[in-house]
Amino acid sequence: MLRVKPRARVVLHDAKAADTHGWHKRGAEDALEHNKKRLEQLQYTLYAEGVESLLVVLQAMDTAGKDSTIRNVMTAFNPQGCTVHAFKVPNDAERQYDYLWRAHLRVPPRGSIAVFNRSYYEDVLVVRVEKLVGATIWKRRYRHINEFERLLTDCNTRIVKICLHISKDEQKERLEARLEDPAKHWKWDAADLEKRKQWRDYMQAYEAMLARCSTAHAPWYVVPSDRKWFRNFAVSQILVHELESLSPQLPASSVDPEHYRIF
Ligand code: AMP
Ligand code: MG
Repeated sequence: MLRVKPRARVVLHDAKAADTHGWHKRGAEDALEHNKKRLEQLQYTLYAEGVESLLVVLQAMDTAGKDSTIRNVMTAFNPQGCTVHAFKVPNDAERQYDYLWRAHLRVPPRGSIAVFNRSYYEDVLVVRVEKLVGATIWKRRYRHINEFERLLTDCNTRIVKICLHISKDEQKERLEARLEDPAKHWKWDAADLEKRKQWRDYMQAYEAMLARCSTAHAPWYVVPSDRKWFRNFAVSQILVHELESLSPQLPASSVDPEHYRIF
């Protein structure tokens, strides 16, 4: 339902950000808890099997809740089998390589899960809107990215890409809340206001990314995120669905318990 079909034209209307698809808060919160238990079991088996891995990519405008989704949903996973990496403005060392290099370094090994808090998609989002490179350069990146993701999926990494969609009004409220609460001041970044001024350009860049890079092997999901409870529930539902479709199995056991006695 939230999955973007390959080559589909997606319009990120503000109104869609508040959609809860018929769910109510209580039911969604219960379903989230249920899903988290299921995620824990699925990860256990994925790890034990040690064959496939899962890469979760999170992209969103500021305040949409990437951090909070990680805290509320990804905590279902055992830290031993899960890493989270936040992609910031590339540092001096990272700038010496192609833009996919730093992401490739952090893809999950077999049996593991990696969560990307922002990703190489910044290279067709902020980089495009802020004109950090010319159009001929960012335009060819959609193809690089699709091929990079094809490489990973061909080598046993399932890729799930989630775009947390908030409305401009909801962002205003969340930015105001950040200003009002001293405990949230550390998150304050005046640059977010500059990005907010270019909202329309960002939506266009997001729409192009969704249209060009939602593929059968690495789909994008757009999650309405004005309601935090719906966002958390929907992300958990997507992860359960994707991990179940991988259908991890415990390795066949050659251990005969009758054979051993433990003193
Ligand atoms: P935050 O996620 O709030 O810590 O902010 C990280 C910042 O890094 C965001 O403003 C991103 O747009 C920026 N960023 C991430 N990747 C890139 C990139 N490849 N090029 C330029 N800026 C980036
Ligand atoms: Mg920030």
